[in-house]
Amino acid sequence: MEQSHDIEVAIVTGASGGIGRAIAIALAKAGYYVVVNYRSSQGGAEKTLAQITQDGGRGELQGFDVTDADQTKAALDDLFSRYKGIDVLVNNAGITHDGLFMMMSKKAWQQVLDTTLAGFYNVTKPVLKKMVRRKKGSVVSISSIAGLIGNRGQANYSAAKAGLIGASRSLAAEVARLGIRVNVVAPGLIDTEMIKDVPLSALKNMIPMARIGKPEEVASVVRFLCSDDASYVTGQVVSVNGGMA
Ligand code: NDP
Repeated sequence: MEQSHDIEVAIVTGASGGIGRAIAIALAKAGYYVVVNYRSSQGGAEKTLAQITQDGGRGELQGFDVTDADQTKAALDDLFSRYKGIDVLVNNAGITHDGLFMMMSKKAWQQVLDTTLAGFYNVTKPVLKKMVRRKKGSVVSISSIAGLIGNRGQANYSAAKAGLIGASRSLAAEVARLGIRVNVVAPGLIDTEMIKDVPLSALKNMIPMARIGKPEEVASVVRFLCSDDASYVTGQVVSVNGGMA
């Protein structure tokens, strides 16, 4: 366990999956000590941390379910007890549970909203309190093109991802004078487990760049938004989608 109190700390939720892993690796390369969060895929999180270490970076694993307020609080309290502050939070954890709205179960609706929106609340609120105390910090949340324009079969996911944009824009206005920036990245189709069942060849025609994006192409935008290079950028939604919308 890292004991230093002077390092810059970044938390990435859902860093056992494709986009979260790329973000965690990019932030570690930028010099952050990265807290690699996961829910069930400990092996995936270990792979992320192994890559960070191989690149000469530092970090640790923190398994917690962002929908579980108590579990999340316990994990964050542990981090707060060891670090002076949290510099960067990336709310990346997300799930899909697709289906036409007319057929959608309450469970499918609720699970997707809970992961994105209760997750945002459970993690961001305590971290923000720490950031406010130091008048410093950057929060980036991963939305989706579905949150901007909707998508057939994804009413739950689109609602969650649009909600994330509303919450982030409001929060950005609330904390801008306290030295904290809050932004959103809205990816299009990115090559990860999440889209493994999507018929990509048909969808490629809808992408002006005619290809699926790479997790690293999302991560580089997140890293920019977290950095001082984006010091006058807050309350924004940056699309990373090959020109789709
Ligand atoms: P993956 O399925 O590869 O990764 C999802 C990640 O979220 C996993 O690390 C998973 O952890 C984590 N997660 C899910 N539920 C929870 C939870 N309750 N608590 C903590 N972690 C959780 O998908 P992607 O990497 O593609 O997705 C990352 C983000 O990007 C998501 O928010 C997604 O909606 C968004 N996005 C993805 C797009 C794409 O085309 N791939 C497009 C637009 C947005 P574990 O496996 O350990 O349970």
